[in-house]
Amino acid sequence: MSTTKDRVYNSFEMAQAQFDRVADFLELDSATRALLRDPLREYSFAIPIRMDDGSSRVFRGFRVQHNDARGPSKGGIRFHPQETMDTVRALGMWMTWKCAVVDIPLGGGKGGVICDPHNLSLREQEQICRGWIRQVASDVGPFKDVPAPDVMTSPQHMLWMLDEFETIHRNRLPGFITGKPVGMGGSLGRKEATGYGVVFTIREALKELGVRPEDTTASVQGFGNVAQYAIELYTQLGGKVVCVSCWDQKDQVSYAYRKASGVDLQELLGVTDRFGGIEQTRAAALDYERLPGDQWIDQDVDILIPSALENQINAETVLRIRPRVKLIAEGANGPTSPEADAVLKDRGIFVIPDFLANAGGVTCSYFEQVQSNMNFFWSRDEVLGKLDLKMTAAFEAVLDVAKTQNIPMRDAAYVIAVDRVAQACRDRGWV
Ligand code: GLU
Repeated sequence: MSTTKDRVYNSFEMAQAQFDRVADFLELDSATRALLRDPLREYSFAIPIRMDDGSSRVFRGFRVQHNDARGPSKGGIRFHPQETMDTVRALGMWMTWKCAVVDIPLGGGKGGVICDPHNLSLREQEQICRGWIRQVASDVGPFKDVPAPDVMTSPQHMLWMLDEFETIHRNRLPGFITGKPVGMGGSLGRKEATGYGVVFTIREALKELGVRPEDTTASVQGFGNVAQYAIELYTQLGGKVVCVSCWDQKDQVSYAYRKASGVDLQELLGVTDRFGGIEQTRAAALDYERLPGDQWIDQDVDILIPSALENQINAETVLRIRPRVKLIAEGANGPTSPEADAVLKDRGIFVIPDFLANAGGVTCSYFEQVQSNMNFFWSRDEVLGKLDLKMTAAFEAVLDVAKTQNIPMRDAAYVIAVDRVAQACRDRGWV
């Protein structure tokens, strides 16, 4: 939830506001609008767990299937203390557009559990995973709805979920879930895929802007799976990350870590605690300056890469973006509010919208699903090569629409995605 000067809104309202604008642009009829504005199906359920101390606790779980006209619903499951049905609805809708914009034969869905894995033992987390599956086992599946990891869920969580699903169905169905551990049906390249995908689109955007990666600097919000691999590949291309922000579990706030000579990913990983947070004293010894977490956005850099949660660039924070910033690559889902987006547009900042920039994860999930169903696995280079081709082609298609119709990249990506999904609904005779 983000507070702006004149209103409070949530992610689902934001997703619907974005959709409404495109629906107007595409002149969609009222039935198609009604179908795409809300999820096709949604599930909300209790997950009762026996805790390690013998007590019982009930967690709340969700799954939303926004649209499956183009193929089975696809999307991650988040474990987060602030999870809500509306957040899951928004993220499910964005998954539909994400799969459509990269043109993979999948629809969109999302799931979640209101919980904080930091405060749960591995056994308790396993119980939540198995309990989640038991509640939706007949409504998900390899040809219906295929979950994956997301915020605070891991390959291990996916494997427990797969095991529960296969136990219930008395079958081996490895295409049911993606983001599995490598060697247990997972794909090589999946862990890097989202962060690398973000950088493939940054590389293409810089070509368009006529700037060489080695002449750029960046500031990254987040230090999770997406951020880390984005930093890795961007640095390999010659770019310099000067600031990274990270959640501190102990203090329950985020901090930004700045190093003008450039952040070294391996160095920072070496001072990371068991929750994935950067240890302050050890980072200070390596010459990292610690700043309040929100200062990742104030940095005098060429590129901002928000790779944490929703609503981080909003009506207030957008005003702090420095004049030098020319490119924003949205690694997170929904990091920019519509009000902030209007400001970015006025300032002429090139935005690679979330559902294009971070589509590498689900694209690789699609490759994993194909490999799992075939029971034949590709090399890492083959996977990442196919990923690069898919991301580059999607970027070029969006850029082409943006240029020919003279609209921002986000609008262009929406036009392509919504049009494809609406067409699939019409072709099926749904509207
Ligand atoms: N959770 C990721 C996303 O938001 C990946 C989803 C998937 O692999 O299905 O795109």
